[in-house]
Amino acid sequence: MTSDRAQSPSSGGLPEAVVETLEALDDHDLRRAILYAQALLRRRHGDQADIEAGPGEEIVRVVEHEGFTEVHKLQPCPSGCDDCPHGPYVYHVVSERHPDGTEHRRWTLIGEEHHEP
Ligand SMILES: [Zn+2]
Repeated sequence: MTSDRAQSPSSGGLPEAVVETLEALDDHDLRRAILYAQALLRRRHGDQADIEAGPGEEIVRVVEHEGFTEVHKLQPCPSGCDDCPHGPYVYHVVSERHPDGTEHRRWTLIGEEHHEP
């Protein structure tokens, strides 16, 4: 039987200290780290009410699925580096009706679109 554990997943160029910290976490804390990172992104960018490009962003693809919308979006980083914008990042956008009757869109980051060179 081959083991997937031997192969490290790509860290996508994350700082080494972050990779080491994440790899040391047990599954429970790792899931909490994912939720924390998602919450951090929402706090910085808010939940966008509409599927539209923000400042410096570019929506490259929108795919409607049953129950959610898949959005591919190029996004700049706050420092505005030479590689900006980054991505495209793939989001799943779900509409949620809250108890007060208001409709919210929840953006969940799925991953980065991969390009063949
Ligand atoms: Zn950048």
